Amino acid sequence: MIESLARQPAQAYLIVGTTAAQFAHQFAQHLFCPKGCGTCAHCSKLAHGTHPDLTWVSKSGKRISIDQVRELQQKALYPPVEAPKKIYVIESVEDLSLEAANSLLKILETPPRYLIFLLIARSTNILPTILSRCQIVKLPTPPRHQIEKILRERGLSDSEIELLLSLTKGLMPDEPLIEAVRQFAPQHQKLQEQLTKLPDPELWNSLSEANPFVRREAILELLERLSSYTSAHVLALAALLGKSDPDVIESFIQEALYWYRDRLVLEGRAEGGILALETALWKIQRNANVQLLMESLLFTLRQARAPA
Ligand SMILES: [Zn+2]
Repeated sequence: MIESLARQPAQAYLIVGTTAAQFAHQFAQHLFCPKGCGTCAHCSKLAHGTHPDLTWVSKSGKRISIDQVRELQQKALYPPVEAPKKIYVIESVEDLSLEAANSLLKILETPPRYLIFLLIARSTNILPTILSRCQIVKLPTPPRHQIEKILRERGLSDSEIELLLSLTKGLMPDEPLIEAVRQFAPQHQKLQEQLTKLPDPELWNSLSEANPFVRREAILELLERLSSYTSAHVLALAALLGKSDPDVIESFIQEALYWYRDRLVLEGRAEGGILALETALWKIQRNANVQLLMESLLFTLRQARAPA
């Protein structure tokens, strides 16, 4: 994969996965000395971390600072010294502050031709305007069938496995989640029926259920109801969510994202909902005003749900 990418490189990549840093190294190697001879000036400088055309940015504190991004911005004006291209590797892009992300966006919007960005992240949950300028490279994680096999060997039934994988969006579930699903799987259908009959205030309270399985079902039921809500209803719900734990909000948004992506595939609409959810998730993680954000998000979702 690296060889074909390096042959006609794009200007910006978002590399996602546990081996992303390794991938970025190999990419630079292929670009500067495709043979990887190990003896030329490129190879020796890459090996020693002293190649002048490779800039590697790691976070100095909790996250990459605005100053670090500004420095990149200034240095971007100078063409490469030894190689045909200049590479910027930026780690932990999902942790950028809004200010730093916007600053990065400025270089990404009109990058000099010789510049290549390799952005490294744990997920694609980054500022959507940055995401849209990147070619996304998702490095492989254990394939679904392998996870299914592991879970089956641990004695979980097919329906339990299906529930688990829908909760983790296809990733390996952790122990508390496996235990929770084991306990709740037999009551799945009954729970769904109960939630359908639940009055709104009680359903809303179920959104902060500690059990992720119950919480998920409550969110799905709420999304079904949302298009029939009045504006007063939406405002009351936003006020309630505004006071909730951050992880309640985050699981609401994550679950809604999964649900809307399904709808997009099935019905070919809901794109507005998806962009609003992605942006909201990003802002929430940066301490935006939760109640205001939820108001605008819920209104957008209600609209997205209304028949076209
Ligand atoms: Zn070489």
